[in-house]
Amino acid sequence: MQSFDVIIIGAGAAGLLAALQLKRENPAISAAVLEKSPRPGRKLLATGGGRCNIANRRAGQAAYFTAAGENPDFVLPAFAAYPVADDLAFFADLGLLTKEEEDGKIYPLGDQAAAVLDVLRLQAAANNVPIFTETAVTSITPGWRIATDKGSFAARAVILALGGVASPQLGTAGDFAAMLSPLGHKTTRLYPALTQLKCQSPLPKALQGVKFTGQAAIWQGDKCLAEASGEVLFAAYGLSGPPVLQLSRLAAMHYPEPPRRALTVRLDLLPAFTIEEIRAELARRRTLPFTLEDMLSGLQQAAGAAADQTLDG
Ligand SMILES: Cc1cc2nc3c(=O)[nH]c(=O)nc-3n(C[C@H](O)[C@H](O)[C@H](O)COP(=O)(O)OP(=O)(O)OC[C@H]3O[C@@H](n4cnc5c(N)ncnc54)[C@H](O)[C@@H]3O)c2cc1C
Repeated sequence: MQSFDVIIIGAGAAGLLAALQLKRENPAISAAVLEKSPRPGRKLLATGGGRCNIANRRAGQAAYFTAAGENPDFVLPAFAAYPVADDLAFFADLGLLTKEEEDGKIYPLGDQAAAVLDVLRLQAAANNVPIFTETAVTSITPGWRIATDKGSFAARAVILALGGVASPQLGTAGDFAAMLSPLGHKTTRLYPALTQLKCQSPLPKALQGVKFTGQAAIWQGDKCLAEASGEVLFAAYGLSGPPVLQLSRLAAMHYPEPPRRALTVRLDLLPAFTIEEIRAELARRRTLPFTLEDMLSGLQQAAGAAADQTLDG
């Protein structure tokens, strides 16, 4: 049985950062990371459409909305403990050059998520933190004993960084629940928080590949649950784009198990105009020598063919 002061389970972004921070503050401590996939950081490589959006200069409380009854201040302690500037200083220290785009999003200079993983991986090796890949943890016993499919490990402390259940093909199938409940922990209901929306309406499929910059709102009956602005993309399955991803969390919360109450997405393609202004403009256009097909020419905001939207923090 191999023994370490600290064992970190999961070599994703959280596990690798935990290992490095631990060694930075306690260089004498021995630490190891156990990872069930053949390689560390597989999800990290998929982030930001393969570019890894590592931070956002505009990140802050205003970028988060919560459902009624939830604590809207829940993000404040995290931002206070680890501001964006500290995050960038951490990566700069590891040798990662970054660039900031107009919308405040920060990416590695070379637009490669692999560069982020490389600096974390190399720094772990430089700090003598072994990463045991293809080592799936099956149970944890207080004390601490960690059983894996490659034998047992012992540690004085254990850090669980097993990820959630998003993109299970990248190694995260929700193993934490089975590991935590024997230790007395409970898990709350899990639901998607940042995802595309499948729609029953045939309209998005007819407009597949078209995008526009406007507003999307999610309604249940006559109640607007939330609205968001930005680029909306029509797809064969339904809707995508940053505002839709933002609203998806509320869709998942309000549309759980049967019996389900239908949700509606309302799209505003011309939010700068009132409905009266649009009616008046359409009436005026009817007097112009437009064919029905050309009647909307010049009205579109950013319509056009688009590749599918990738999830981008
Ligand atoms: C498509 C996509 C794009 C994204 N883009 C961005 C972005 O641009 N910017 C951003 O900030 N965030 C982005 N995110 C979110 C971001 O990827 C996650 O928040 C982040 O990866 C979570 O890191 P983690 O270390 O907690 O979990 P993970 O990265 O999921 O790591 C958990 C690790 O634990 C391992 N593991 C699980 N079970 C076991 C077990 N039993 N034994 C051993 N190991 C185990 C897994 O194999 C995995 O390697 C994106 C997410 C997705 C799905």
